[in-house]
Amino acid sequence: DKDAFYVADLGDILKKHLRWLKALPRVTPFYAVKSNDSRAIVNTLAAVGTGFDCASKTEIQLVQGLGVPPERIIYANPCKQVSQIKYAASSGVQMMTFDSEIELMKVARAHPKITSVINPALDKYFPPDSGVRVIAEPGRYYVASAFTLAVNIIAKKMVWKEQTGSDDEDESNEQTFMYYVNDGVYGSFNCILYDHAHVKALLPKRPKPDEKYYPSSIWGPTCDGLDRIIERCNLPEMHVGDWMLFENMGAYTVAAASTFNGFQRPSIYYVMSRPMWQLMKQIQSHGFPPEVEEQDVGTLPMSCAQE
Ligand SMILES: *Cc1c(COP(=O)(O)O)cnc(C)c1O
Repeated sequence: DKDAFYVADLGDILKKHLRWLKALPRVTPFYAVKSNDSRAIVNTLAAVGTGFDCASKTEIQLVQGLGVPPERIIYANPCKQVSQIKYAASSGVQMMTFDSEIELMKVARAHPKITSVINPALDKYFPPDSGVRVIAEPGRYYVASAFTLAVNIIAKKMVWKEQTGSDDEDESNEQTFMYYVNDGVYGSFNCILYDHAHVKALLPKRPKPDEKYYPSSIWGPTCDGLDRIIERCNLPEMHVGDWMLFENMGAYTVAAASTFNGFQRPSIYYVMSRPMWQLMKQIQSHGFPPEVEEQDVGTLPMSCAQE
């Protein structure tokens, strides 16, 4: 069937982690779960030993449910509900962020232990050269490039558009195409609305050198005027049933996709290259090798799994 689907390269996640360790060895990454909460992603990051930035009780439960100890979780949210602060405290999560004094007071009231950690730490460790543990909360860094989305063209319209700025009578109209594909801004492409993403369509087959290109627009399947994926791009003429690919679709896509109009979210097919898989196993049994170069780790052949 020609349902839309993702291919997610878990080896790419591991590669990002190795790059992080090399570039910022002193900064512990706490992955922002909200950017992509797929179990396979959280599991992969848990296996390589990152921390997790959870914004809610549900995310804490997800991460703890996969066996991550509370020391590796930070409850970070600029507007915390008191009930959720209490939940974090009761489940052993000791690290929290605060973006304002009011938030800090709220944490202090609901999670007394935190203050005894924060206050001495603020006094004692504030100079950066004195052993402060520095952390970061990267989200899209880890997941964006791992996911490639494949969508299928389900309908097509040819439209003659008046060309602006042309004096030539014969060429005053240009032939354009509108393509409708089986995922849109209410699904994976919600990143266009919420994350102001700009996406680019790739074609699985390289066009012939003499192929004619037409101004084209790409639309989601809901028949809603808002459901526009690309306003204008140049493409060879495509046909119903053809595939289009969108790279870098791992962050703020599947995490917030809805099933508006009854369209299902795409399946995700997880893959990992054999060298990455071996490296992963090595990390789990012996920790990180002292020096792994990204280019040492090839990308083929892949092993597959489905979620
Ligand atoms: C969402 C979020 C992040 C991650 O943002 P990215 O742009 O995906 O890296 C980090 N910290 C906090 C507090 C966040 O809410």
